[in-house]
Amino acid sequence: MRGIPKTSRRGFLRLVAVMSTALAGVRTAIAAQAQPLRPTPGCPDAPQPTPRQTEGPYFKPDSPRRESLLEPGITGVKIVVAGVVLSTSCQPVPRALIDFWHADSSGAYDNTGYRLRGHQFTSDQGRYRLETIVPGEYPGRTRHFHVKVQAPNRPALTTQLYFPGEAGNGRDPIFNRELVMRVQDATDGKAATFDFVIRS
Ligand code: FE
Repeated sequence: MRGIPKTSRRGFLRLVAVMSTALAGVRTAIAAQAQPLRPTPGCPDAPQPTPRQTEGPYFKPDSPRRESLLEPGITGVKIVVAGVVLSTSCQPVPRALIDFWHADSSGAYDNTGYRLRGHQFTSDQGRYRLETIVPGEYPGRTRHFHVKVQAPNRPALTTQLYFPGEAGNGRDPIFNRELVMRVQDATDGKAATFDFVIRS
């Protein structure tokens, strides 16, 4: 500290002390304004339940149990939709029922039979995997899947899943961007992911 007079050094140290006290005060004020701490969540971002949506007019009970809705005569772009069913406490839900139904590539539902309808159960790790085709749009609706998700002995969550980047999304009053799947091109069509969160 050669060259700095003792008096100004003392003044400088006093300034540093005053500033740290002021800073500590600001920190305390910010902490007081913050929300009370929540308990540590079970996963990185404590999940909100998947939003509910209308069932629409075309649901049919007793769909066949199958993980692939592909069958002879069905045309369109293949898509695999996969993901996990989680509880709001972030636990995978095994043996959850997942029932999908959707329009064909020209936007029509099979209301006499069970084409493009099927249910499955999640694995021990809460996983599901559906193989089907990309549904077509129909008047008033953007491209979507219908789905019911139900944990054993719990009420069913009825909702719909959407595609990103669809022009129709902005025109469909039912569309909810929280229900947009992640969709990528795959070698044999498309690969989509969506994780459901149901109340536990
Ligand atoms: Fe529909």
